[in-house]
Formats: sequence, C-alpha cells, structure tokens
Amino acid sequence: MPLIRPYGGYLVNLLVTGDERRALLEEAAHLPSIQISSRALCDLELLATGAFSPLNRFMGRADYQRVLHDMRLADGTLFPLPITLPVDGKALVRAGDRIALRDARNELLAVMDVEETFGWDADEEAHLALGTTDPRHPLVSEMISWGDTCVSGAVRVLRLPRYHDFVDLRRTPAEVRSILYEMGAERVVAFQTRNPLHRVHEELTRRAAAEVQGALLIHPVVGLTRPGDVDHYSRVRIYRTLVERYYDPQRTLLSLLPLAMRMAGPREALWHAIIRRNYGATHFIVGRDHAGPGLNSRGKPFYGPYDAQELVARHAAEIGVAMVPFREYVYLPDADAYVEETAIPPGARTLSISGTQVRDEYLARGTMLPAWFTRPETASILAQSYPPRHRQGFCVWFTGLSGAGKSTIAEVLVTLLLERGRQSTLLDGDVVRTHLSKGLGFSREDRDTNILRIGFVASEIARHGGAVICAAISPYRAARNACRKLVGEDRFFEVFVDTPLEVCEQRDTKGMYARARRGEITGFTGIDDPYEPPEMPDVHLTTTTTTPEECAWRIVSLLQERGFLNDR
Ligand code: ADP
Ligand code: ADP
Repeated sequence: MPLIRPYGGYLVNLLVTGDERRALLEEAAHLPSIQISSRALCDLELLATGAFSPLNRFMGRADYQRVLHDMRLADGTLFPLPITLPVDGKALVRAGDRIALRDARNELLAVMDVEETFGWDADEEAHLALGTTDPRHPLVSEMISWGDTCVSGAVRVLRLPRYHDFVDLRRTPAEVRSILYEMGAERVVAFQTRNPLHRVHEELTRRAAAEVQGALLIHPVVGLTRPGDVDHYSRVRIYRTLVERYYDPQRTLLSLLPLAMRMAGPREALWHAIIRRNYGATHFIVGRDHAGPGLNSRGKPFYGPYDAQELVARHAAEIGVAMVPFREYVYLPDADAYVEETAIPPGARTLSISGTQVRDEYLARGTMLPAWFTRPETASILAQSYPPRHRQGFCVWFTGLSGAGKSTIAEVLVTLLLERGRQSTLLDGDVVRTHLSKGLGFSREDRDTNILRIGFVASEIARHGGAVICAAISPYRAARNACRKLVGEDRFFEVFVDTPLEVCEQRDTKGMYARARRGEITGFTGIDDPYEPPEMPDVHLTTTTTTPEECAWRIVSLLQERGFLNDR
C-alpha cells in the first residue's frame, strides 16, 4: 500500500463573519433573490466549507465546458463533475448583478456577485458527464427540470443550512480533519455509503482499516441519494448503533456528508475521493459498482462493475488519495465468512440478498433479515422504519348517492377488519359535518372543502399506519381524486356504491328525498345537484343484488390481496 502524504492544499472557506457579515445581511434584505433547489443547497454548503476545494464557486462556462470534456477545471485541476447553479432564464439575472441566494423557505443563505451567465444543454451534459441520456438515469430525468441559464460568480455565505437532526455528527472538513489529527492517525481510509450498513460493508471497512493500518472515516451521504433509498434517519440510527457496538472507538469516526449525489458511477467515484481528501482521508474505498444508478431502459447496468476503480486508480496519485479497491464480496454459508468473489473455492455455495429483496421479500412481508446478512440492530431498525404491508395504513373511500348504502356497508367493514386484527377510524359524512366540518353548507365550494378535510385527516391516519374508512357522498370526481393523491395512490381504495336513484329514493331512510322533492331542501345530490360517478373505482358495488355483508366481503378480499390484512 503506497503511503500518500495528506493533502496540503488550501481548504476553501466561503463563510463571512463579523462586520462584513453584518453589512451584507443588511444589504441582502434589499437585493433581488433567487430560491435555490435542495440540490444546489447541498452544493452550496459543500462549496462553502471547502469540501469541493479547490472549487470555490458554481462553475462558469470555461470550467463547465472543460469539466464536461476533460474532467478538469479551466486551470487544469482535476474535477470530474459539473457543479452549476441553473436558474430560470426568466429570472433575468445578468453579469454585474449582486443577488441573494435563499432556500425554499426563503431564508437568506448567501450573496453572489454574478460575473457571468450562460446557457447549457441537458443532453450534452448528460452525454458527457454521465455517459448516457437514458431517462432511467435518475439525474437525466431530473435535469430536464433545471433552469436553462447557469449563473456564476464570487459567493459569500452568510449562513450554512440549519439542521436539527444528528447535529453532533455533522461536521465541516476542517472539523473532521482536526478530530482525525487528534486521533493521531497518519493514514485515514474513508468509506462512502448511501445504504444501511450490512455485514458485508462491515467486512469491507474493517479489512480496509487493517490494510491501511490507519483510522476509518465512515462518511455516509445524507444529502440527496438515489430516489427510493432507505431514508437517512433510519440509516444514521443504524450507523450510530453499529459504530458504537462493533467498531474500535479509538480508530473510527462517523461523520455525515450533506452531498447531493449524481449517481455518475466512475466520475462520481473520483469526485467522492477528492471530497474525502478534503475531509482528511488519505485512502478511499471503492468496491463494486460504486455510485451506480441501477439498470438502464434495456435492463443493463449503466456502468461496468469496476469502471469506477479503473478511473480512480488512474488519477489517485494526482488527487493525493490512494484507492482501496474491493471486488464483489459474497457470503459463504458453509464457512460462515465473507470473501472476495475471486476467492470463492470451486463448487462452494454462496448467498446474497439484494437491496430490492431486502425491501420486497423481507421488510414488506415482516420477515426478519438473517444474522449472516445484517446485525440484529440493523434488522430491527429497518423493520421499525419499514413495517410490513399489513401494518401500513390504507383508506377505503366510499362514494355514492345518499341512501346508497355507504354507512351500512362501512359498519360491516369495521367489524370485519376488527375480526382480522385491524382497528379502523370511520369518518362518516353525516358525523363529520357535526364537528370537523361544522358550519359548511352544500355549495360546490363547501362540499369540496368538506371532502378535502376528510381527505386530509384520512391521509394523516394512513401515513401513521392506521386504517381509515370514509363514507361521504363525495359527488365530485376532482375532489375524490385530490384525496387519492393526498393519501397515496397505492393505499387508496375507491368504492363506488352504485345504487340507482329510484332505489335510494324508495329507501329514503332519512326522509331527505321526500323533503327535496317537496322543495324543502335544495341542492340535494341526485335531485337538483350533480353526482359524478367514478370512472375506474377500485370496487364497484351494486346493492340491489348484493347484501351489505357480501359488499363488505368484496372490499376485505381486495385488501387481503394487496397485503393490507394479516392472514391470521
Ligand atoms: P454507492 O452508491 O455510493 O456505491 P453503497 O452504499 O451502495 O453506495 O456502496 C458503498 C461502497 O461499498 C461502494 O464503494 C461500493 O462499491 C461498495 N460495496 C457495496 N457492496 C459491495 C459488495 N457486495 N462487494 C464489494 N463492494 C461493495
Ligand atoms: P348512505 O350512507 O349511503 O347514505 P345508508 O347506509 O345510510 O346510506 O342507507 C342505506 C340503506 O339501504 C339502509 O337502510 C340499508 O339497510 C339499505 N340497504 C339495502 N340493501 C343494502 C345493501 N346491499 N347495502 C347497503 N345498504 C343496503
């Protein structure tokens, strides 16, 4: 293992303090502002703290073009990915302007003296930086929504983004370097991850630290990762627990990195190594398919499994970080050990569980992950954050004319759910109007407000794992669809209680139809107010030929089929 001297380069620091800050704060209140995206916010933070050193600004055209074509800044420094601030051309930002950069909540972050603006082309950037224009690549599909004009210029940062979670684990490059220095480690190997730590990662990190004979920097990304990844709250709970219990406290540092990943494979791996160098690492782990974005639209991986290693190896000396490469690691059940694929004895059995299998075959079914694959602490944190379907929330939404049978069927459904171990909340239209929607009338606007209130409450209940049954006429398609969106497509079941008006009128359980016909009440659905039947209900019930019990049974079997009810 070659000994690499720690990076002696200059760490960028864009934060201004003291009088300069006070004066800028005052001035910024009157400056034109732009709101930056969550991606740009991560980039700004890492620019400000020097994590992207020597880059000290969102790139101008010369840097941008050379980075795309040669992976170098205009002055020749290696930098593999573009970091730009694209804004909408209609924002009319011009060279010479001084503008304020604000976050989504309009909080002031920084002031930029714009030196240039330039147009960019998403296809060109995707092709050159990512090597693909396939919209299956998560960044390609995101890029088309970015602004058409990049702005660049000197930035003075007034405030870093404020976090309330895991604040003790969030550190700037200077802070990480100083802790590593205190540890007395001459060599530091950094580990990048966007996934929960399983046994295989523990094995990689432990071996890397032993090989390097130095400290280990566990440096997970908590900015933007691949859509669909395990949320960072659960991941950090896992990292923290495992580092406390299974790693050498004298030689291990866990620190969070607010990076917005690009999922750019090889170029991203090189970028990761540069960033970790700035945090004080001398070595960097690159395994199989580093920062890979999954499969393209032809079902093939975007990058070769070891392309990232090749690229990092080629530039390691120049960036001042040695690579610690690993081939694919697999588990040998007979030896109860993890080995590199090249070391599998002939004929040996191997086991592996993919991220998709973790989600679909274990968590979704409530099956505990096996101990050979992950620590019990990890298994239980994941099980808590991702409960099985039968412990997730859902909403059954009845719609139909007054007297169609919504409340009657809903009541049967409540007991059938209890019989299967699920409590539920019934939001009955008539009952809701006595409290939640008290005072609302029957105009289109009031009816919509009423339905959206029910939808909002239902979405909160479902989000927290509850079963909720809504039974209101809900005559308007648009309002019902809005509720479907609120609750979530895959957990919202629209049940159309399709009873003809004549039958409802004949039943007239509440005497309402008679009063409407006599003109004592107006705007009554079906008489002098419209009812828009669902076009594609999840369940279509006809109460003239089916009993309430049979109707409720049909809903139960759908819920069962979708996994929302336990078998027992
Ligand atoms: P990323 O998307 O950044 O690669 P991961 O959390 O998936 O994040 O992986 C972190 C690191 O561990 C990467 O360097 C990756 O190549 C390596 N790695 C993950 N699983 C394996 C494995 N089974 N064998 C070898 N390397 C692996
Ligand atoms: P809504 O809640 O849709 O206004 P209700 O459930 O209050 O309707 O009233 C429906 C009436 O129709 C009840 O008196 C119920 O007994 C009767 N009914 C007859 N057959 C059925 C059926 N198959 N499903 C539901 N209700 C039925």
